[in-house]
Formats: sequence, structure tokens, C-alpha cells
Amino acid sequence: MADYDYDVLVIGSGPGGYVAAIRAAQLGLKTACAEGRETLGGTCLNVGCIPSKAMLHASEYFEAAAGGAMAAMGIKVKPELDLPVMHGQRKDAVKGLTGGIEFLFKKNKIDWLKGYAQFTSKDTVEVAGKAYRAKNIIIATGSSVTPLPGVDVDNDKQVIVDSTGALELAKVPGHMVVIGGGVIGLELGSVWRRLGAKVTVVEFLDQILPGMDGDVRKEANKILKKQGMEFKLKTKVTKADVKGKKAVLTLEPAAGGDAETLEADVVLVSIGRRPNTDGLGLDKAGLAVNQRGQIETDHDFSTLVPGIWAIGDVIPGPMLAHKAEDEGIACAENIAGLTGIVNHDVIPSVVYTWPEIAGVGLTEEQAKEKGEVKVGKFPMMANSRAKTNHEPDGFVKVIADAKSDRVLGVWCIASVAGTMIAQAAQAMEFGATSEDIAYTCHAHPTHSEAIKEAAMAVTGKPIHI
Ligand code: FAD
Ligand code: NAD
Repeated sequence: MADYDYDVLVIGSGPGGYVAAIRAAQLGLKTACAEGRETLGGTCLNVGCIPSKAMLHASEYFEAAAGGAMAAMGIKVKPELDLPVMHGQRKDAVKGLTGGIEFLFKKNKIDWLKGYAQFTSKDTVEVAGKAYRAKNIIIATGSSVTPLPGVDVDNDKQVIVDSTGALELAKVPGHMVVIGGGVIGLELGSVWRRLGAKVTVVEFLDQILPGMDGDVRKEANKILKKQGMEFKLKTKVTKADVKGKKAVLTLEPAAGGDAETLEADVVLVSIGRRPNTDGLGLDKAGLAVNQRGQIETDHDFSTLVPGIWAIGDVIPGPMLAHKAEDEGIACAENIAGLTGIVNHDVIPSVVYTWPEIAGVGLTEEQAKEKGEVKVGKFPMMANSRAKTNHEPDGFVKVIADAKSDRVLGVWCIASVAGTMIAQAAQAMEFGATSEDIAYTCHAHPTHSEAIKEAAMAVTGKPIHI
């Protein structure tokens, strides 16, 4: 250790990096974490998962009050929007949680190296003009918004914004155009629609939410349309002209054809995210990125260069906070000589719209490509709790291998789908069959009973339909 400043130096303090640092310190390794932002917690805590959920949660209450959902239960209210207070509670949530990571760093004796790190060799990085040598370096630099040529984001002007700008809008836009019908577009589009904006989603593909189960994509589109969101599928934006406080977008059919224009008060660019490796000096460490700009690793998160590891959004796989966290734990354990594993076949994903959309494992389309499957479906309309709560939209779908009955994928659209999917992930982690889920006692009345019934439907024997 004499020549080294640290056993482990983590670059980036997002859910991948800060979790890796804490686990490494817990395992007795002398640990530092370099972070260029003013606060710890990365994209997730500062401008991602947490602030977006703060706005989703608050706007959900606003719409429940304004849109009549409460009146249906005998509660008459006339809500008034106090946007500065709504933004205030979002900022409080971020402050509390990022401060919490700072506390955990102190508690675990992790040095926070303030500034952007750059490799100067394979075991040394420079942060704020000072060199640090470490036995192990974990790259957890995360990702940033993918830019769209011809549509220049300027978050300060609040006309063309990215997800960070869309969290901060000072007033509810009259018309918001969302470019990209993925997770960010649907979540942040939902926030502003609930607060009163007209929202139009322009999506390049023929359906929203690429990567999700086909039935789920169609049903989600139907439900969001019913809520008032407008969709222009198979359409691309080729240009945006900002004229004063408005933007005029040029739209073209994805397959080519006549262009049209669309005026917007706010345009949200949400066409994906790309790994952060610029300025990291990877070449000095002997590393390169793949065609998608990602750092490739082995299953233990080691890169081609011994002693350099990578986790989270900067490596291949879904860009999700919990995937980054699990990789952080596994990577730190591998560095400490333990066996850290992440089962990338069982990473749940959740879209926090109303209702929520969640899935884990294979889509029906992917499962069918691999072999014969059995599928069980159960509508939320037939679930007593969802029906009683006036939440009839959605369904649960369980996909199992036709021969072994092993569960290959579970998909839900339900008000609490994000919470429900955890049991499916756990069952799949233990190699459950649909029968295992069907014969597990579920508390009544809960939304989760729909998972049991969908599992029963795999072999054709649900009770309530
Ligand atoms: P990041 O969280 O991106 O953190 C990387 C950190 O590294 C950053 O703080 C950056 O400043 C720092 N950094 C970069 N380069 C350097 C350098 N050279 N030196 C020092 N520091 C550096 N995921 C979910 O699972 N659930 C959600 O609900 C969810 N909601 C989201 C909402 C939005 C609006 C966005 C944008 C993302 C959301 N995500 C969500 C995705 C999630 O935020 C990411 O998958 C997750 O943050 C990735 O973690 P990470 O540790 O790999 O990187
Ligand atoms: P995304 O990949 O989810 O969706 C981008 C969408 O934009 C796709 O549907 C794509 O077809 C479309 N698109 C691409 N180019 C286009 C163009 N030129 N014109 C019109 N449409 C175009 O990306 P995102 O929504 O920006 O989110 C980025 C990442 O952040 C995702 O990988 C996601 O995993 C993560 N995230 C997760 C959550 C969550 O877990 N709840 C929330 C927000 C973000």
C-alpha cells in the first residue's frame, strides 16, 4: 500500500459510484470517490430519479384533485397550483438525499475528492490539479443527454430543454412537445400534462417505450392517449427554430415524405442518454470505448486493463439506478476478493406514469424467439383492490416456458406496478415456475393478487375472470 494513496478510487458518485465506494469501505478498503458536481449522488439523486419522482408524486395528487378522481370518492376539492412550493419540495428531497450520501461517506471514512478526475496513467488520476495513485480505479461516470442535431437545448431559456430543464420550468407550458416516447418523455410529459399543459409526443418508431413487451407498449399508449397525451408516431423532428418564447419544429415522417411544422412553448428533447467518457483521458489508461461509446467489461466488471473497473450507465446494459447500484456492490466485492455477481437477466424496469408500467425478464416477443411459451394475463379491472380504488386500467402478464413452466418474464400496468414487480423479480431470481407463484398465498385485498391470478392463468385456471 505504501506507494498507493488508496486501495479503491471511484470516479463518479452516482448510484453506481457511491454504492461501490461505501461497499469497498465496509470491506476494509481505503477508499476515495471523485465527483465533479457540487453535490454527491450523480444524475439519479440530483437531476434524475429523485427530482422526477418528486414532481410525478406531487402532480399525481394535483390531478387526482383537479381531474375528479377524488370527487368519485366523495371528496370535493378545487386545487390551486403553487408551482414554486412544488419545486421547493423537489429541491428539499434532493438536498436531503444528496446530503445523506455525504453523511454516509463521512461515516465510512471515504474521501470525497472534489473535481473532475482524469487518468494520467493506468493507476493514477488527477483531480483539481492533484495526482492520486490507486490500486483499483472504478469508472462510474454515468451518462448525459443525447443531443439531437438541429434542436439545440438551452435550459436557461426554458424553450428547448432536456430532462434537467424540464424539471425546473418556472411556469406550466401551454403546449409542450416531447421528442422521444421513451421513459423520460412519458414521465416528464405526464408531470406537465397533469399540471395543465397540452402535451404532444413525437416518436420516431411505430410505438412508444421501445424494449418493453408489445402488449404493454400498446396498452400504455392507449391509456396515456385517454389521459389526453397526443402522439405522433413514426415521425422525426429535423429542425427547431426558436422565435421569441416559442419554438417551431419541423417534423417529417420517419420513412420520408412531406414535412409539417408544429409550434411549442416548450420542447423536451428526450431521445436517450450516452455514456460519459469525454475528458476522462481513457487513452492514458490504455482503454478505449466501443461503437456505442461504452466501456466494455467482463462479468466481474473488470476492464481490459488490470486494476481498472467500470459500472453503471457507462457500461453496456439498461441505464437504471438499481442496475448501477448492484454493479457497484458486486464490483467492490470482487476487488475485495469476494465473488460479486449481478444477474443481468433479472433487472426490473419501471415507468412512473399513472398507472405505473413495470417489467422484468423477457418480453413475450423475446421469449417466443427462444422457444415455446405459455402466457397468463389478468386485467386490473378484475382485481378487487384496484377496482375499489377506482384504478381499473392495466393488466398483469406472466410468461413461462411451455415445458418447464419456469417464469421468463412478468409485465404489469397497474397503479403500483413498480412495487408489485419486486415479487416477480424475486421469484425469477429463485427460478420460480408460474405454479410456484400461483400457489403462493397473497394478502387480500392487494393489487399483487393480480400477479397470482396471472400466474394461475398460465395454466388456464384464474378464479376471478
Ligand atoms: P450517474 O448517476 O450519471 O453519476 C455519474 C456521476 O459521475 C455524475 O455525478 C457526474 O458528475 C460524475 N462524473 C462524470 N465524469 C466524472 C469525472 N471525470 N470525474 C468526477 N466525476 C465525474 N433510473 C432508475 O432506475 N429509476 C428512475 O426512476 C430513473 N429516473 C430517471 C429520471 C431522469 C430524468 C433521468 C435523467 C434518469 C433517470 N434514471 C432512472 C436513470 C438513472 O439516473 C441512471 O441510470 C443512474 O443515475 C446511473 O448511475 P451511474 O452511477 O452509472 O451514473
Ligand atoms: P429512451 O431510450 O427510453 O427513449 C428515447 C425514445 O426516443 C425512444 O423511444 C426512441 O425511439 C426515440 N427517439 C430517438 N431518436 C428520436 C428522434 N430523432 N425523434 C423522435 N424520437 C426519437 O431514452 P430517455 O427517455 O431519454 O431515457 C434515457 C435513459 O434514462 C433510459 O435508458 C432510461 O432507462 C433511463 N431512465 C429511466 C427511468 C426509470 O427507470 N423510470 C426514468 C427516466 C430515465
